Amino acid sequence: MFNKLTIDEIEVAGKRVLCRVDFNVPLDENRVITDDTRIRAALPTIKQLIEKGARLILASHLGRPKGKVDPAYSLAPAARQLSQLLGKPVTMATGSVGADVQQQVDALAAGEILLLENLRFHAGETDNDPQFAAQLAGLADLYVNDAFGTAHRAHASTEGVARILQPAVAGYLMQKELKYLGQALAEPKRPFVAILGGAKVSDKILVIEKLLEKVDTILIGGGMAYTFLKALGIDTGNSLLEADRVELAGELLAKAKTKGVEFLLPEDHLVTAEFKAASPAQVCDNSNFPTDLMGLDIGPATIKAYRATLATAKTVVWNGPMGVFEFDAYSRGTFAIAEALAESDCLSIIGGGDSVAAVNKAGLEDQMTHISTGGGASLEFLEGKELPGVEALTDK
Ligand code: ADP
Ligand code: MG
Repeated sequence: MFNKLTIDEIEVAGKRVLCRVDFNVPLDENRVITDDTRIRAALPTIKQLIEKGARLILASHLGRPKGKVDPAYSLAPAARQLSQLLGKPVTMATGSVGADVQQQVDALAAGEILLLENLRFHAGETDNDPQFAAQLAGLADLYVNDAFGTAHRAHASTEGVARILQPAVAGYLMQKELKYLGQALAEPKRPFVAILGGAKVSDKILVIEKLLEKVDTILIGGGMAYTFLKALGIDTGNSLLEADRVELAGELLAKAKTKGVEFLLPEDHLVTAEFKAASPAQVCDNSNFPTDLMGLDIGPATIKAYRATLATAKTVVWNGPMGVFEFDAYSRGTFAIAEALAESDCLSIIGGGDSVAAVNKAGLEDQMTHISTGGGASLEFLEGKELPGVEALTDK
């Protein structure tokens, strides 16, 4: 199924290897990394390359510095964190391309690591400028892409460089992500259930449509649920609503019916007056939704129904929290789903930055089959789109 070359099929000893990683980690106001999951996720590839004697050049973006040098977005904290995780030095480059960087690359011995400065300090990165891609390619002898999280973007360091610097191969994280997501789409054990939530229908409409072709059941929660309820003529007070998507939501419900896909919407809700952590909750159901309140979580009957569905599921894809889990009083629905997946023996794949954060917050990350490091990339993959960063790699 996966027809691209991988790092197991190339000789790297003594070679300069440019490896695109996703070190786009969250930083606090003191520029301390608050979650190093993405750095740890790249370790298997990094360790393998240095053990095999590569002269390793790592490249990543961090945040959105808009094509200019901005020290607030320096990757230096990531270099320090990686050095700590590996227990060996990681040199921070003075830039991402150019003569000084070339010198730093030339000075690398086998097994040593240089981390290039934030690629998005150059507008050429997101513009996929061929000249910037050529400059990156000029630094190395071969290319590895392990940045699944940016594989859905055709940028200079993901797509452009792979067209020039061959062989261009997939790292372990990239392979692992594609393996689990591919497995879910290609030959899912049934029942196959998709859980979709989060704030916006419009973000996830395409994936819902695509998943209708694949799954047995769809469970909807979070802010997007109210647009679907509205399509059924149910008013949900001051809850989030995408009025211009109601018609589309109705079409999806109809499509699910013709396809024989079970499409479950919340039957009850935790509602409150204000979008605030301390705003007190009350329970209502679809028949008595107060006009002056808003839904911030799925209610107990919905939790029970969704848990029952998940108890017999064999494959589950989950993207988007069931409620405003950042507020303790409205985190139950989301945590209950995480618990149901932890208890089940299904293959569970979690995607989406906030969903992953919720699973981590519940302390259940070890009990999921696969936690994707790429929210947008995993959605686009599930939508059936080709990922340009994968497409550009060298065929087997
Ligand atoms: P992910 O990052 O997992 O893809 P999204 O970004 O689509 O998820 O949505 C996550 C956000 O949705 C969270 O910040 C959460 O607070 C918000 N959310 C969930 N339920 C509701 C709701 N009922 N009303 C408003 N916001 C909600
Ligand atoms: Mg999000």
